[in-house]
Amino acid sequence: MTYDEARAQLIAWRDAYPDNPFESDTFLRRLLARYLDGARLGALERRASAFAAAMTTVVAPAAARYEQRAHLAEFAPYDGIGRRVDRVDFDPSYHVAGEAVWASGVVSLSGEPGRAFEQATLLYLLSLEGEAGHACPATCTIGLARALRRRADEGVRDHFLPALLEVDYARADRGAQFLTEVQGGSDVGANACVAEPSGDGETYLITGEKWFCSVADADQFFVTARIPGAPAGTAGLGSFVVPRELDGRPNGFALRRLKDKLGTRGLASGEIDFLNARAWPIGPLEEGFRTAVSIVLNTSRWMTAIGAAGIMRRAVLEARAFAHHREAFGQPIERFAAVRTTLADMAVNADGALALVMALTDVEDRIDAGRASEDDVHWHRLLVNLVKYLTSRQATSVARDGIEVLGGNGTIEEFSVLPRLYRDAIVYESWEGTHNVLAAQVLNDLARLPLLEVAASRLRALVSGDVAGLNDGLTLALEGLTRCRDDREFAAWHLRDALDRLGYVAEAIYLAEAGKPVAARHLLARQSPGYDAATDTGLAERVDKILSV
Ligand SMILES: Cc1cc2nc3c(=O)[nH]c(=O)nc-3n(C[C@H](O)[C@H](O)[C@H](O)COP(=O)(O)OP(=O)(O)OC[C@H]3O[C@@H](n4cnc5c(N)ncnc54)[C@H](O)[C@@H]3O)c2cc1C
Repeated sequence: MTYDEARAQLIAWRDAYPDNPFESDTFLRRLLARYLDGARLGALERRASAFAAAMTTVVAPAAARYEQRAHLAEFAPYDGIGRRVDRVDFDPSYHVAGEAVWASGVVSLSGEPGRAFEQATLLYLLSLEGEAGHACPATCTIGLARALRRRADEGVRDHFLPALLEVDYARADRGAQFLTEVQGGSDVGANACVAEPSGDGETYLITGEKWFCSVADADQFFVTARIPGAPAGTAGLGSFVVPRELDGRPNGFALRRLKDKLGTRGLASGEIDFLNARAWPIGPLEEGFRTAVSIVLNTSRWMTAIGAAGIMRRAVLEARAFAHHREAFGQPIERFAAVRTTLADMAVNADGALALVMALTDVEDRIDAGRASEDDVHWHRLLVNLVKYLTSRQATSVARDGIEVLGGNGTIEEFSVLPRLYRDAIVYESWEGTHNVLAAQVLNDLARLPLLEVAASRLRALVSGDVAGLNDGLTLALEGLTRCRDDREFAAWHLRDALDRLGYVAEAIYLAEAGKPVAARHLLARQSPGYDAATDTGLAERVDKILSV
């Protein structure tokens, strides 16, 4: 093969990327049609299609520039005449992408209760670029807007919410959420930042430091702080909204520096000191931690899971097209059984994650619209932690497999989007709750609430006869979690395995239910404890079927 022929293969691979990644995503569209119909589905499809087109023409080229080290955001502590401004300056391409993202409605839809499917679909499309640069600000803004809409007093809500719902990026306020302090992100109860009453009967003054502040350029911060005289731990935390500026000056905060991160580099994450920053409570002070977890963090966990599913979809698209066009030893690499197996594994993980994320979105939609049953609330409580935990790990693994399929080229930043997806996926694993923290949350909830009973009845009702082993797999997973619930010593060692089992079997059930029994069988087989390819006689046939779709 000549140099030109080899390059022609690479050009063909790049050209294979769809102009409209929504229109070509038959599985996503099939899932949406299972949950929605009529005018709502039609409107969502039109909105998603328009945004998908903007993703390829506007957001992708912009992100390819501002996510590179030479064009990252810079900290500007002072203005030209030496006044402290604590600004973050971005490459102009960052704002070009931001305009398209905000115009999609992904954030402004937060003003309408029960738009979870629309927001999930748009964020999924955004995540095809691994685009945490705007996915994180959008998510933080959505979480803050939801907290204000659902929990804040009327006056606070009406003052802060409208600017967060603005569809015009140039005029919109963007939100951030600051919980983590240097003494620990998992142990939020160790927060030492304090909020003293200001004396005006309405506002508080926040003092202390926050150690991980993503969207350090935001216009409104959601901040947790300790109320004087309140109990220790999480019970003593209030939730507040802090405007970045008051009277055109920084509102009692100083940005120390921006962090130099492994991933999500397009986004500015800093360390911030607060000194008497004026803050407005969101909801009753004594319920501050509840607001932080049940609305803000849970919104972020759901959206992180959507982002993980988007990352996986992109990795699959890149790897499958590459394997089709790239030749080695005289044939396309997609003909090698080992490559085929990797591609099939990637595809079933991506599809399984998307199916499970959409099941979570379905409950999110009802909760946000105020239409949820008590069972829905319980199901959501288990799903949101399980799904964020599982999909963020799957995303890292699928992005890494994608890099493997591209070979050495897969590690090169200018060659493909995959290095960025991989770096972002690793960050997704930590933020909004590390794996162990989410697992511990599930365990605590299992002890207090009938979550396993709800999970059993919801999942059993969906089990299809097409896939052998689903019922048994579900029984095994539920038994493992029941034992963890009843035996803390056992749980300390086996909880994560038990969660993995439930997560994968749930993905397989939703895959089968959505018309992908072979993918369900493959995921279930490959994730079974003690799986042995040597005795898996159906492997080649399954792989062929999965890749023929
Ligand atoms: C790029 C980036 C941006 C971020 N942006 C924000 C932001 O905007 N706002 C914000 O509030 N935070 C933010 N975070 C912080 C993030 O939420 C925390 O990193 C995360 O919550 C974990 O906290 P930690 O880093 O202090 O780890 P630790 O709490 O120190 O945990 C370290 C390890 O110990 C494990 N561990 C802790 N407790 C237990 C336990 N009980 N049992 C078993 N294992 C345990 C954890 O699972 C983890 O593996 C960001 C993080 C990153 C990486």
